[in-house]
Amino acid sequence: MITITTPQGKQVEIVLEHELCQPMDMGEHVRAYCHLHGSDHQRSLSINKMTGWGHCFNAACQATVLVAEWNRPVAQRLLHLYYQGLTSTALPSYQPPHPQSWHKPSIVQPLLLPLPKAIPAWQQEELHTLQALDRQMRWALAQSRRAQMYLHERSIPLKTALEAGVGYVPLALLERQEMRKEHEVLRRWVDRLIFPLNSPFGRGYIGRSLWHWKPGMNETIHKALLERPGSPKRWIKTNPAGWFGVELEQLLDTIMLVEGAFDRLTLLAAGLPASQIVALVGTALQVEWLPAQVKTVVLALDGDDGGKEASGRLADQIAQAGLRVQVCPLRQTTWGKDWNELWQHLGKQSLTPVFEALSETRSA
Ligand SMILES: [Zn+2]
Repeated sequence: MITITTPQGKQVEIVLEHELCQPMDMGEHVRAYCHLHGSDHQRSLSINKMTGWGHCFNAACQATVLVAEWNRPVAQRLLHLYYQGLTSTALPSYQPPHPQSWHKPSIVQPLLLPLPKAIPAWQQEELHTLQALDRQMRWALAQSRRAQMYLHERSIPLKTALEAGVGYVPLALLERQEMRKEHEVLRRWVDRLIFPLNSPFGRGYIGRSLWHWKPGMNETIHKALLERPGSPKRWIKTNPAGWFGVELEQLLDTIMLVEGAFDRLTLLAAGLPASQIVALVGTALQVEWLPAQVKTVVLALDGDDGGKEASGRLADQIAQAGLRVQVCPLRQTTWGKDWNELWQHLGKQSLTPVFEALSETRSA
C-alpha cells in the first residue's frame, strides 16, 4: 500500500487486491473490512469493481482507495507522478544540472479522478449489448454499401475505418428473429456508425447517426437535418464513454489529440500510426488517464473559437501534470474548421501542420 498526498492535502491509498481484508462480492461493488482504520465489525470499505475506486464509510476513517489491479492506467499514472515527485525532492544534489529542468515544477501534482457515479441499469445493459455485438457491427460495415458511401464522401477509406474498429448498426441486423432483445436495447443505435472508445473503465462506444443521409448530401446539410426538432441526436455515447484511440497502455510516447472521430480517421488515412492519434470525441481530457510512457502531447484541435479556447486550457492542464505540450494550429478557412473537412477538399497538403508538429517533437 502506498499513500499519496496531493498538495491540497487529499490522500489516496493505492492498494493491491490481495491487501483487501476478506473481500465480498456484492455485484457492482466489493465490500471489505477496512485495513486502514483497523478492526471494525462491518465491511466498511466499498470499492467499485469497474473503476477500482473505493471509499471507507467509517466516519472516523473516510479513506479514499484505489485498487491498482482494477484500474492499472490510473494507478500507474499516480505512482509514476508520485515517484517523480520523490526523486526530484529527495535527491536534488545527485542530479546533474539540466538546463530545461529550471522551467519544470519540482513536484508533479497528482490529479484525482472524481469518483464516478453509479451507472443506471439501462446504460449498463446498452454497453454490454454493444460489446457483445462488436464483431458483428464491424462485419455489418464491411457489408453496407450505404455506410461505405458515407465514409467515401468524407474521404475515409473503408480499410482505415475497419482497422480502427469502426462498425455500423443496420436495421437489418436487429430485425432478425434471434435479436429481439438486442433490438429493444439498441433502438437508438440503429443506422449509426459505431466508434469504439477506450478509458480506464474499459470499452465504450460513440455512434454517429446516418439518419436520412443520402449519397451526395454534404455534411452541413445533413447536420442541419439532424438538428431539426424530433430528429435523432447526431452523436450518442455509452456510459462510461472514453476516447477514440487504441487502448491506453498502447499509446506511444508522443501522442496527438484531435477533437472528432473523423479527424482521427483522417490522420490515420494519411498514414499516421493508430497508437499516436487520440480523438477526445467530447470526453474531457483527464491527464491521469495517460499511461506513464506518454511524455509529449500535441494538441491539434479544431480551428474555430471553441477549439482555440480548449487548446489553451488543455495546454495548461497538460503542462501542470509535468508533460511536454505543443500546439499544432489549424487555421479555419472557407474549406472548413477541422482536419476532415480540409482533407476532403484539399487532400494531404492540408495536413502539413500536423506532420510538421510531429517532426518538431522528434527533433526537440
Ligand atoms: Zn476505514
